[in-house]
Amino acid sequence: MTEPPPARTLLLSHPSCGKHHVRGHPERPERLHVILAKLAHAFPTLPLVTQVPPATIEQLERFHTQSHVQAVIQWCGKIERCMDELEKLPDTEETKERREVLKSFEYVDVDADTTLMRYTREAALFAAGSVVEAVDAVLAKKYVNAFCAVRPPGHHAEPYKAMGFCYFNNVGIGAMHAIAVHGLKRVAIIDFDVHHGNGTQTKAETTPELLYVSTHQAPFFPYTGHTEENNSAVWNVEFAAGTSSYPFRRAFVDEVEAKIAAFRPQIILISAGFDAHKDDPLAEMNLTDDDFYWMTKRLAALAWHHCEGRIVSCLEGGYHFRALARCTELHVQALVEASLISDVTELLPMEGLQIEKPQKTNLRLVLAKGAKQKTLVLPDITIDKLRIAAKSKWQMKKSQQFRTAQGTVIADTISLLELENDTILYIA
Ligand SMILES: [Zn+2]
Repeated sequence: MTEPPPARTLLLSHPSCGKHHVRGHPERPERLHVILAKLAHAFPTLPLVTQVPPATIEQLERFHTQSHVQAVIQWCGKIERCMDELEKLPDTEETKERREVLKSFEYVDVDADTTLMRYTREAALFAAGSVVEAVDAVLAKKYVNAFCAVRPPGHHAEPYKAMGFCYFNNVGIGAMHAIAVHGLKRVAIIDFDVHHGNGTQTKAETTPELLYVSTHQAPFFPYTGHTEENNSAVWNVEFAAGTSSYPFRRAFVDEVEAKIAAFRPQIILISAGFDAHKDDPLAEMNLTDDDFYWMTKRLAALAWHHCEGRIVSCLEGGYHFRALARCTELHVQALVEASLISDVTELLPMEGLQIEKPQKTNLRLVLAKGAKQKTLVLPDITIDKLRIAAKSKWQMKKSQQFRTAQGTVIADTISLLELENDTILYIA
């Protein structure tokens, strides 16, 4: 019996990435713990590098301004010195005032949801360093692709400031490294996190070697990334709250893939956020586990067509632990499968990767209010559409009104909202 060929996917992480922790914050160390546990279980033989060097100042400053890099480093240094002193001070009446001063430096807010603490610098440096290491490994052809299980995330970090849980733009730093050190002329970044990566877009706008393509919920934090901004370096695809698989996949093929293919990238970097999942508590899109697998397979095929399969993927958001762990496993599964190909000619036809239009059926709808019951048949409607309307309180267009077989309108925006409160909706 011959052994199957070893996968050529590299996993990277660093213990320090788990140390940045702000009490009560959704971007927490457990995100990494559940991912690493899941990956260790699912891919026990996959190489996992946990000792990467931290990003250097030179690497950081290819993306960020010197003043931003210094601000993060010096603020964290100050916090660290305060916490060290606090630990050594005896708990007495004489030290009370000093202890209170020191304690006030435990958390330093950058904005409403971005906070520096003792280990932020360390975690952020190793997160960015992992992406740089992954880019080196993939461009040296040691591996076909790589996934960096790191945090804090990076795509909101602007060249000149931290924001939105992000301090250093991990994927952007990896991209600038590929350009500066490996001399790449075309680096594509695809960002499927539910939030727009404003920081990455800013850099792409002034870096001719970069293409930034983002799919995200809109309008939504950080309220940037509009289709009107689209140009040769930036492509935003906006989705309304409630968007589910079919419209997402359609736009992914028509816009994301088309844009990346036309760019002919030499490497594809992924800002892999899993918060567009339907279970995610921070957003309102309705993607399923399978959508993340599908999307990664499509990107892997694209990478094989243009750049010998080269992909470096980097964790961004994803805040529902179980969904996050499952989707990351599927994402890596797709990368592993793609790594076993040795040539573009081995690409199987995109079996199972086509887009299946949701079946339209006649639904039997039972409306019950108190003792009253009414059964209605809804022709030509999809379950998805019903779910979307019920979940997101979308402003429904006239064409989306629910009608009976005879054409009577039975539910418009208002009655649907009422359905959620005192009317029970059964779908049979
Ligand atoms: Zn996000």
